[in-house]
Amino acid sequence: MKRAAAVAALLLLSAMPIAAARLPKSVVPSHYTLSIEPDLASETFSGFEKIDVDVKAPVDSITMHAVDMELKDVTVTAGGKELPATVSVDAPNQFVTLKLAETLPAGPAAIHARFSAKLSKQLRGLYLSKTAKRKYAVTQFEATDARRAFPSFDEPAFKATFDITLIVDAGDTAISNAPVVSDTPGPGGKHAVRFATTQKMSTYLVAMLVGDFRCIEGAADGTPIRVCSTGGMENLGRFALSAAEACVKFYNDYFGIKYPFAKLDLISIPDFEAGAMENAGAVTFRETALLIDDKTASIERKKGVAGTVSHEIAHMWFGDLVTMAWWDDIWLNEGFASFMTRKPIQAWHPEWRVDLDAVGGTIGSLGLDAQRSTRAIRTHADSPEEINQLFDGIAYGKTAAVLRMIEAWLGPDVFRDGIRTYLKKYSWSNAAAEDFWRTMAESSKRPVDAVMKSFVDQPGAPLLLVSESCAGGERRVTIAQQRLTVAGQKTQASWTLPLCPRGEACRILSQPSETIALKGCDAPLFLSRAGAGYFVADYSADERKNLRAHLRDLTAAERLSLRGNEWLLMRNLRQDVGEYLALVRAMPRPEERPLVNAIADSLQFLDLRLSNDANRNAWAAFVRQSMRGYTPLTWEAPAGETAEQAIARAEVLWTLGEVARDAEVIAGANRIAAQYMKDPASVDAVVADRALALAAIHGDAAMYEQVLQHLSTETTPELRARYRGLLTEFRDPKLIARTIEYIFSDKTRTQDLPRMIGGMMFNPAARDAVWAAVKEHWSDIVAKVPTAIGGVAGSAAAFCDPASKKDVEAFFTAHPPKGGERGLRRALESIDTCIAFREAQQKSFDAALAP
Ligand SMILES: [Zn+2]
Repeated sequence: MKRAAAVAALLLLSAMPIAAARLPKSVVPSHYTLSIEPDLASETFSGFEKIDVDVKAPVDSITMHAVDMELKDVTVTAGGKELPATVSVDAPNQFVTLKLAETLPAGPAAIHARFSAKLSKQLRGLYLSKTAKRKYAVTQFEATDARRAFPSFDEPAFKATFDITLIVDAGDTAISNAPVVSDTPGPGGKHAVRFATTQKMSTYLVAMLVGDFRCIEGAADGTPIRVCSTGGMENLGRFALSAAEACVKFYNDYFGIKYPFAKLDLISIPDFEAGAMENAGAVTFRETALLIDDKTASIERKKGVAGTVSHEIAHMWFGDLVTMAWWDDIWLNEGFASFMTRKPIQAWHPEWRVDLDAVGGTIGSLGLDAQRSTRAIRTHADSPEEINQLFDGIAYGKTAAVLRMIEAWLGPDVFRDGIRTYLKKYSWSNAAAEDFWRTMAESSKRPVDAVMKSFVDQPGAPLLLVSESCAGGERRVTIAQQRLTVAGQKTQASWTLPLCPRGEACRILSQPSETIALKGCDAPLFLSRAGAGYFVADYSADERKNLRAHLRDLTAAERLSLRGNEWLLMRNLRQDVGEYLALVRAMPRPEERPLVNAIADSLQFLDLRLSNDANRNAWAAFVRQSMRGYTPLTWEAPAGETAEQAIARAEVLWTLGEVARDAEVIAGANRIAAQYMKDPASVDAVVADRALALAAIHGDAAMYEQVLQHLSTETTPELRARYRGLLTEFRDPKLIARTIEYIFSDKTRTQDLPRMIGGMMFNPAARDAVWAAVKEHWSDIVAKVPTAIGGVAGSAAAFCDPASKKDVEAFFTAHPPKGGERGLRRALESIDTCIAFREAQQKSFDAALAP
């Protein structure tokens, strides 16, 4: 699954509530024959199923999953005999138990059942999605919601094959995991769409979609590929289709196993909580993650779509072909798909520099992992709420960063060979963490198991305290390991860590402190070659100076990594902000887009935290000086500008407008925003994005009306999302009140609610008002998006004062955010960290700005 981008990174850890029970292993399913008939008019569905099972030992009852549905005509057949079953419900465990009249002997048997339920309105299970024109029945099962669509053994290790039939209205189509094998007239003018038998797969990967979906078609290496959407938008799928073709070809080659399913459909759904979901052969997406107009799309959106498509297709091997045995190893799925995402894109569009984005990914994950409230990559989880909270920045980002470090240590070919061996060995089956690292260690003949175990089972990130001496041309470097935390907190910990210093062979660190010998004393000491290490290094003052004097000797990836390293030390109060600002000043110009953007982002952060009326002018002057030399400072594109340069220019202009409050830049933004709203094709969308946001920050009611107007008339998901996001940027209190009303009205789709709340929480002028509204509408939010409340609770991280923290704590004590405990804990810690940061760094900041 790919989380919606907005607040997903905020999720994290908490104490575990009561553990839910797991299914017994005595009855194991092998095949489902499943027929489901949605009734869109009455918003209900009904169905029947036959589950072929293998009874491992004689039983008197069979327990399986089912939630919020009525069961009838439940029987079990075995050896030519039919046994009626009485059904009892265990709601807390989401179980139904079929009590049999007599003992069922070991051997093959079959469960038969009829069932009916309402189409869900909570974006999970078999749920209702709507457009202005009509209704749809669609599914989202990961992690534990297949049980809301049909009674099932809904755990990932119970893999089975499926024969699915969907009975749909005349004129409607249906899509599922396998290709259609027959389409025959059915009762009441409906028709029955029957799909081929699937490959063996877990229940959470089943997909069923009913409506007026239209598709465009392509192929890669003989696999048919389609991109589908609600009728009328299919042509917006062209870009995703070419991305999918490039990814399938790349992965066929990389994994050495041909795409494992009979076909690949990528389908956008009007209402969808996550970003996308890797159902085997039928991947579902929110519209903005799949559909774009190639003529007007921003390069950032194109990268976003390509990235989501690539992530999901990687899952067809990592997740669908080989599946984690239990949800505590969901990182195997998500971290690996996240790690793989950039590989096909790098091959397809090397000029997009996603290789450098990977360095930024490592830095971001280290930042998240520095929190006290972080968790180990592998964390125990039993209940649906616990499982749902594992889909966080640790499972995705940290795992991807750790895998990146391991690949850099082993070398790309040795790493890939290990992956191929693993996938081959566990195809159509399940594997746990140990299976993965044991296979990688055997294949590479390196201690991958020891390294991975230390990073997977231990929370937090390594902080390396580095000191060095030089004698006889040999450099002796002493490295002591601690855990990266805010200075002053308990930090004892050590990892088995592959260390690959720049210009040196890799070696393994495994002691709390050890001394290594490196050649030569002249070159600057930099311990993370290509920025691939998952650690932060605290160099000596001399080394830091030396690095700053030799920035041009480092590669762009290493400069990016060094910037992130120094940023994280400063954020965790282990360096003065003045040191960081000195590094910013020393950066060579021009520079690659990811570095320009990282510096710009950091200045925006410091602006929020440390700028005030007293230092405003000096700070603005510093920002202008720091942003000089990277890019021409014009809103109009200079001749011959590349897409990467356009992004960097847009980001620099945004920083000058927002942070330095440059009047000329703001006037230009107003001009470009007006031009874009008249003719979107006339302005690069990436530049327009920032111009519109700056214009909205200073915007009045007239502009607000224009934005609303566009929101109601634009037809592409990207443009609608851009204008919807813009509503959260206005600073005028009257307009903020209107946006809040909009957010909690039926004009906002449930899927967009968490993101819009997050946007308003990070708008300093709107924060208090939207928080008051969140409290007022809390029960409504919980009812609408129960799976996203961790993100909403997490957006309280935007506060930075003790009174607000108290208020947040008091509210959530009275209204415990079930399934959002981790998001809340992280948010509360962020508030503390923010307050401490201000206190610790203000003086150094002001001193650095003094003339
Ligand atoms: Zn995923």
